[in-house]
Formats: sequence, C-alpha cells, structure tokens
Amino acid sequence: MASSEPQPIPAKPHVLLIPYPAQGHVNPFLKLAKALHARGFHVTFVHTEYNHGRLLRARGPSAFDAGAGGEGGFRFETIPDGLPPSDLDATQDIWALCEATRRTGPDAVRGLVERLNRAGGGVPPVSCVVADGAMGYVVHVAKEMGLPAYLFFTPSGCGYLAYLNFDQLVKRGYVPFKDESCFTDGYLDTPVDWIAGLLPGARLRDLPTFIRTTDPDDTMVTINIKQCELDSPAADGILLNTFDALERRALDAIRARLPNTFTVGPLGPEVAPPNYLPSLTSSLWRGDDRCAVWLDGQAEGSVVYVNFGSITVVTCEQMDEFAWGLAAAGCPFLWVVRPDMVRDGDGGWKLPEGWEEAVDGKGITVGWCDQEAVLEHPATGGFLSHCGWNSTLESLRAGVPLLCWPFFSEQVTNCRYACEEWGVGMEMPREVGRGEVEAAVRELMAKEGRGAAARRKAAEWKEKAREAVAPGGSSHDNLERFVQEVAGATT
Ligand code: UDP
Repeated sequence: MASSEPQPIPAKPHVLLIPYPAQGHVNPFLKLAKALHARGFHVTFVHTEYNHGRLLRARGPSAFDAGAGGEGGFRFETIPDGLPPSDLDATQDIWALCEATRRTGPDAVRGLVERLNRAGGGVPPVSCVVADGAMGYVVHVAKEMGLPAYLFFTPSGCGYLAYLNFDQLVKRGYVPFKDESCFTDGYLDTPVDWIAGLLPGARLRDLPTFIRTTDPDDTMVTINIKQCELDSPAADGILLNTFDALERRALDAIRARLPNTFTVGPLGPEVAPPNYLPSLTSSLWRGDDRCAVWLDGQAEGSVVYVNFGSITVVTCEQMDEFAWGLAAAGCPFLWVVRPDMVRDGDGGWKLPEGWEEAVDGKGITVGWCDQEAVLEHPATGGFLSHCGWNSTLESLRAGVPLLCWPFFSEQVTNCRYACEEWGVGMEMPREVGRGEVEAAVRELMAKEGRGAAARRKAAEWKEKAREAVAPGGSSHDNLERFVQEVAGATT
C-alpha cells in the first residue's frame, strides 16, 4: 500500500517539464513543477520563446527567479515554437501552434537535453522527462536518449477517455461526418453507449468537438489518435490533473488500457502552496489588482464571476448579449474581458452605450484576474464559464457552481459531466440571447431551485477534492508514488 508520508529521495533527480505552450497547460505544469521541486527534484521548466517574452512583459524577470530557496534547483529554459515571430498581444492560433511545435519540437527538445547534460556547474544530468500529452512526440525523443518519459494530459479524465476512443469513432464510421448536415440535423444526438467508462446517455455532441469534421485527414483527429494509440502507451506513465472520486468510471477505463496512470489533482495550494517560490508564475497576462478589493466589498456568495478562459474568441453580438444579460440579472458580477477576446469588431468590442448606467456600479470588467483567488473569495457565488478543465476543476475545488457555456474541444464533455454527473452545473445554449443569460444567472444565484442544488453539490465536491490531496488521499498518494518511481529511476 502506498505510504501517505513523503519518503526521502536517494539522489538528486533532474526532471525536465515541457508543457504545451498555452495558458491552460502551463498553469498545471508549473504547479506540478513546484510540487516536484519541493520534494527534492532539480527542475528545468521549458517555455517557448514567445511565452517567455509574454511572461517577462506581464511579470518582469522575477517570474523566472526562484530566489535563494530555489537557487540552482529550479531553472527555466526556452525552445522555439516553430511559428514566425509575432507580437505579444494576441493569443497564438492553437492549430498553427500544434502543427509548428510538432515540426520543430523533437530537435529542440533533443538539443536542450544535450545542452543540459553538458552544463555541469551543479546541474545534474536530466533523469526524467514529463511532457505535455499534446506533445507526445517528446516521449520518443526521450526514449531514444535512454530517459524515462511521462505524459501529463491537462484535460479532464473524461476528456482524455474520449480522445482514447477517437480511433474507434473513425473505425466505426462516425467520423469524419458524412457532410455538413451532420452539424445540424440531429446527428450529434447519436448515442455513444459503447465507450466503456463514459457517462450513461453520452452523445456525439458530448465528445470533444474535434470530431466535428468532414475531412478524413483532419489534423486534430489524426494527432489525437496518434497521441493516444502510439505516444501514450510508449510513455512510462500518464499523469492527470483530476481525482479518483470525481471520475472513477472514466479512470478505471483509462487504467484498463494504461495501468500506470497517476491522478494527482486538483493541483492546487495543497500540492503547490502559493507561498512556495511565490515569484514563479505562469500567468501570461497581468491580473487586475482591483478584483480582490472589489470582492472584499461584496456580500458573501453574491457575485457571479464570468470568464471564458485564455483562448475563447467570441463575436461582438455575443458580447453584447452577455453584457445586457448580466446587467439585467441584477446581481454583482466580475466579468473578465480579455483584450484579444473579440476579433471581429472594427477596433475591438466596446461596452454598449448606456450599459454602464444600466449596471449602475453593480459589476466590474477587467482584462485578466487571478482566477483561483477570485473563485476562493467568499463573495463569489457562481461561475459563468467556458468549462475549460482548469476552470472546471478550480471551481469544484472552491465549491462554486457553474453556468456552462462550452466553446470547443473537451469543454463540451466537461460541461456534460458538470451538469449530469457531478450536479454542479447548468448548461446554456450556444446561441444565447440576453434574456436567457439573465434568466440563467438569476437561476444560478438563487437561494432555491437548481442553482441552490448545484451549490450544495459543489460544496460536497470541494470536500472530496480536498480529501484527495490531503495525506492519505488518492491524489496525494499518487503524487508520492510518482515521486518515488521517478526518483528510483535516477539511482
Ligand atoms: N486564468 C486566470 N485568469 C483569467 C483567466 C484564466 O488565472 O482571467 C487561468 C485559470 O485559472 C486557468 C487557466 O487560466 O488555470 C485557463 O485554463 P482553462 O483550462 O480553464 O481554459 P483555457 O484557457 O485552456 O481555455
């Protein structure tokens, strides 16, 4: 049986952590990195040059300064992302990024390991690689170099389970879609009852949106199949940012295929305390300092927090509908409007005329915030979210119910689980008008009814999430087991 207590590590292992260069990936990776450093690992954390530039701009050099506590033991390195240079203001195109990193990543990683192994001066040779599941090719590079390699998939377990079955969707003829009508004619309601471990009643529309293609050579389908069929089994183990009690059925099905799967989530303050190497941050934007002060002035559980993550792009019309819906709902709100969130407006989206008067000081908009701090604040009572996995898990961990407006990828899967399986969410239609936004927010924040039921469920999951990462909990023990396994490989 796994011990709850951290065990001593025999020799200084050196772990190379390589996240996919997007916000939702670098955040959990940095937490894992801090957790490993706290357990005696020498850590090298790899950013792309582009993200390094963004972090420098958002936080200054301190974002890379481990300080006296981490001196010599926590370093940052950069690799190119393969895309032409671009300005630091817009979120990169994730499709282009995916293709570019696959082209240039293997050589860049090989060169980096060779360089680190020659570095000397207190830098131990690289003894293990933890790469992002979206960069599965790194496993093969590591293996060629004789290194143990693990893949950390940052989506949910249910999302990963769906990706593990993409090949079956193709073999059984569901994907590619036969023509454009499949996007609208009810085809998406086709039941998917043959994926072991998936929640009962799942439909095609609940699977990651990358299946919604008519192209037999679609890049995202092909890449996902490759990552799951070839890269995942080649890895020494799989890490997931989730916990067993939350996704037991899905995780059993994943472990039936990949037994050495470590669930280590939620990667939160218990695993990587905010005061541990506090200057090291992964936020690509600078959070607005007004949030905490404003929240301090609001009544407990009264605020609806609205944030669609780091890559969602919406139209001007959708923004107008949310703006007026939030104004009409009447409760205090904190709405994060990323500067690059609307790309179709002439000169960007502006708050509609007359809106400030209608809101009358009840809400604020900011460009970016420290989301975990906002969710943990006692004033926050609900989260209107795009259901990115980090957001979903951070909300569960904070005991905050969700109003779900999924955008793409496995966000639709997370939404379905949040609403049907975990009971913490209420789904909003994709084409949502201001009246629906208003009604949904009112329902979420009400003291009775569906919102109140979701709030009670969220409080239960909060307890279970904390149990999972406390000593003796499944994620706590999995992390210690992972540490021992990787450290053991060094000696
Ligand atoms: N985040 C944040 N402030 C913001 C928006 C997002 O700190 O204003 C963080 C959030 O806490 C989460 C990550 O960015 O850790 C977003 O990841 P998620 O998987 O939720 O969505 P994605 O950005 O990948 O769509």
